[in-house]
Amino acid sequence: MISNPENPSLNMTQIKVDALITKQFLAADLNEIRQMQEESKRKPPKTEIVWRNVFLFAALHIGALIGLYQLVLQAKWATVGWVFLLHTLGSMGVTGGAHRLWAHRSYKARFPMRVFLMLINSIAFQNDIIEWARDHRCHHKWTDTDADPHSTNRGMFFAHMGWLLVKKHEQLKVQGAKLDLSDLYADRVLMFQRRNYLPLVGIFCFALPTFIPVYFWGESALIAFYTAALFRYTFTLHATWCINSVSHWIGWQPYDHQASSVDNLWTSVAAVGEGGHNYHHTFPQDYRTSEHAEFLNWTRVLIDVGATLGLVYDRKTTAEEVIERQCKKFGCAEERAKMLQKLG
Ligand SMILES: [Zn+2]
Ligand SMILES: [Zn+2]
Repeated sequence: MISNPENPSLNMTQIKVDALITKQFLAADLNEIRQMQEESKRKPPKTEIVWRNVFLFAALHIGALIGLYQLVLQAKWATVGWVFLLHTLGSMGVTGGAHRLWAHRSYKARFPMRVFLMLINSIAFQNDIIEWARDHRCHHKWTDTDADPHSTNRGMFFAHMGWLLVKKHEQLKVQGAKLDLSDLYADRVLMFQRRNYLPLVGIFCFALPTFIPVYFWGESALIAFYTAALFRYTFTLHATWCINSVSHWIGWQPYDHQASSVDNLWTSVAAVGEGGHNYHHTFPQDYRTSEHAEFLNWTRVLIDVGATLGLVYDRKTTAEEVIERQCKKFGCAEERAKMLQKLG
């Protein structure tokens, strides 16, 4: 039993997990999670809407709808390809950079690779990497509690994008302050991005995506702006947000039945390889974030190409016997075998 002298009603049975699993960097603190969830039931979180964000996101979505219309009916084929390329690069800046490299430290990258990842991360404009990684570390350590910025306990819309439309919960600040972020502040590439964030997103998320189609293949400036900047930015946001909503909702759980995270094929496709979310929450420091084939995991391909070029090293993976033992004890070995056969 975990005993809580301040509140005896919160005493509860300790959750048993494999020792190797609990020792991983950013492994979920299951017992603290359970306690915080109980506390949250007693004192449900208040929703305080931030109207400025509601207005900005509403305007962005109207612009994105105009962009979608133009992309389907008016844009040149080169612009369609450009939108796809920007989505892929921006997403990789989030998945390969902010997520797998900086939040999870699942591999190491040399200076040129870190600069490249920081620049393509700025295409996606999802807050600077230090803030993104802080939020994400909270999500893993205290999943589905008030210290999780996008807790699914507050509903799927909240987990998807509602969390960006309301004031952050006090617990996020309290628990977040306990995290060691010194590695992030020590990285001069991240500090450069933080100091120059607005000019960087101005150039990489909006100005260059608009200028390049106009200059190189004569696209109309308005079509380039609405499709390659506004629509593409909004699409990448939703693809990333689906990891927090769909990948905690619809899918299969071969690795851990205790978690809310699931593996989902479609989020793997939309978010360039990030859909193996049950695997990822179970083995958070595995740079692959999924066992499935590379064609579903373009971010892994990018990291592996970086390793071939000597720009990436120390890629962390999980030993087969650890995965097998975990599935047998806390997941479903048959489901894992079935999905490996299906998806490679
Ligand atoms: Zn993660
Ligand atoms: Zn998650």
